[in-house]
Amino acid sequence: MSYEELLESAYEDVEVSEECERFEVVNVKGHHEGVRTVISNFGKVVACLRRRPEHLLKFLGKELGIQGEIKGERLILSRKLSSKDVNAKIKKYAKLYVICVKCGKPDSELDEEGGKLFVRCLACGNKNEVHKI
Ligand SMILES: [Zn+2]
Repeated sequence: MSYEELLESAYEDVEVSEECERFEVVNVKGHHEGVRTVISNFGKVVACLRRRPEHLLKFLGKELGIQGEIKGERLILSRKLSSKDVNAKIKKYAKLYVICVKCGKPDSELDEEGGKLFVRCLACGNKNEVHKI
């Protein structure tokens, strides 16, 4: 094997980074294990939404009436769900908790103040109160 070939195979072994350069609502990759649903790319989904995995899980749990457990990059849900249903809820989450209602940009942060939760937009400065989950 030449040096170049060695280098190439070494690169192939490098795991794809779960970091996300820009905001994106990534579709979930899931499969069923018995009665449960395993989302294998949950880490990437939350990284691209720039939110905490626990917060998104709380939202999904309430919306879908399920329990979930985060295991590394994966999310295990307590019921059989179609990826279509999960994706729809993640889109809803992005609309409520990430995207600015005023300018439509996703550059925002969640701010907790006086027991209330706000989406604070880093682009236009708008602050919008949202439901605590
Ligand atoms: Zn804004």
